[in-house]
Amino acid sequence: MTRDEPLGNFDVAIVGGGIVGLAHAWRAVRRGYRVLLLERTQFAQGASVRNFGMIWPVGQPAGELYQIALQSREFWMQLGAQGVTSVEACGSLHLAHQPDELDVLEEFCKQQTHQVNMLTAQQVAERTRLANQAGLLGGMYSPTELRVDPRTASRSIAQWLAVEHQVECRFNTHVTSVVEGRIATADGEQWNADRVIVCSGSDLQTLYPSEFASSGLKLCKLQMLRTVPQEGIDEKTPHIASGLTLRHYTSFESCSAHRKLRERIQKDSPLLDHYGIHVMASVFPGGEVVLGDSHEYGEDISPFDKTEIDDLILQELRKVIQLDDWTIQQRWHGIYAKHGTLPVFEKQIEPKVHLFVGTGGAGMTMSFGLAEQAWQRWESEK
Ligand SMILES: Cc1cc2nc3c(=O)[nH]c(=O)nc-3n(C[C@H](O)[C@H](O)[C@H](O)COP(=O)(O)OP(=O)(O)OC[C@H]3O[C@@H](n4cnc5c(N)ncnc54)[C@H](O)[C@@H]3O)c2cc1C
Repeated sequence: MTRDEPLGNFDVAIVGGGIVGLAHAWRAVRRGYRVLLLERTQFAQGASVRNFGMIWPVGQPAGELYQIALQSREFWMQLGAQGVTSVEACGSLHLAHQPDELDVLEEFCKQQTHQVNMLTAQQVAERTRLANQAGLLGGMYSPTELRVDPRTASRSIAQWLAVEHQVECRFNTHVTSVVEGRIATADGEQWNADRVIVCSGSDLQTLYPSEFASSGLKLCKLQMLRTVPQEGIDEKTPHIASGLTLRHYTSFESCSAHRKLRERIQKDSPLLDHYGIHVMASVFPGGEVVLGDSHEYGEDISPFDKTEIDDLILQELRKVIQLDDWTIQQRWHGIYAKHGTLPVFEKQIEPKVHLFVGTGGAGMTMSFGLAEQAWQRWESEK
């Protein structure tokens, strides 16, 4: 075989082995397709391994997006039930330490668009000893959130797809071009596919610089921290979100009380807005607590992390949670691509080639559902 001949023909080829690529691979094999997945690194190392691991339907606005998130949740539950990767149905708690935060949560619960209910400060304390009781006014519980371990989930799913569903997974394989279903890689290999789905995450510009430039996608950098294990902490503790988080997820924008909360934070803590800081905490098996996060966009993104951001995150977290040991054992950052208005940037750029990137801060939550929706549409167009 010469270098110009394709190594194989597939029904579907996927560029990128992060959660979006894996979601497409799964939904494609479920339909009986022969799938090739090409990932440039030894195993996915992008946003899909650097995130909180929160499957977070409560952050999606009522209607179609919330339904997609719930459908995704079901897919995660299936993976958990089959032992593909560990999935904990931990739920989530939004804590209110300010009257305007409580107002938003109460109004949100009254809208009855999400499966949520209010808790008194006492009831919050009964659910978790992590909540800082000082000044706690109450909280909102949602049962729909899941915890997965992003450090291992993508790898486990890729292995499962390869072993159980015969997906041809090629790691350490950098795709350099895709033209009419013919894929070329940096080491000179070529592959053919009837449909190519480019799921290259925050790196669309290498393969498609002009598409990236006109896409409306922006890059966003987040800083994250992990504590040392906490003694005797309940590993089923719900994810914890703060009042600051209420201005981060669009689901709460439907509340009229939201504006007052946003204005207070803008006025009293402009640096939190400047760095896009809202704080969340998630307990992992073994008792480590993952903490975050910040949001810096576009040209503000530096390869070097800012201690000022970590300090602000920790300062805000100390107001809402209590830990026996605040020692930080790991710090890292992740970058995702985000569209201004869409849950994902999706475009068919050639008859056989689709771009599917830019799931923003909700890719773990939404990818399975978004991929399933895309596949239903593609099948109906046949
Ligand atoms: C710090 C942080 C916290 C987050 N927390 C959450 C959360 O709790 N819940 C949630 O729902 N979402 C969260 N997100 C968002 C979520 O992680 C992302 O939306 C999602 O991981 C994006 O997945 P992806 O597959 O598009 O991208 P990636 O995971 O970046 O995968 C893209 C892959 O494509 C590969 N690739 C790129 N170009 C090529 C090429 N030419 N050839 C071969 N391979 C290529 C890359 O190597 C990479 O592995 C968070 C994100 C970050 C950064």
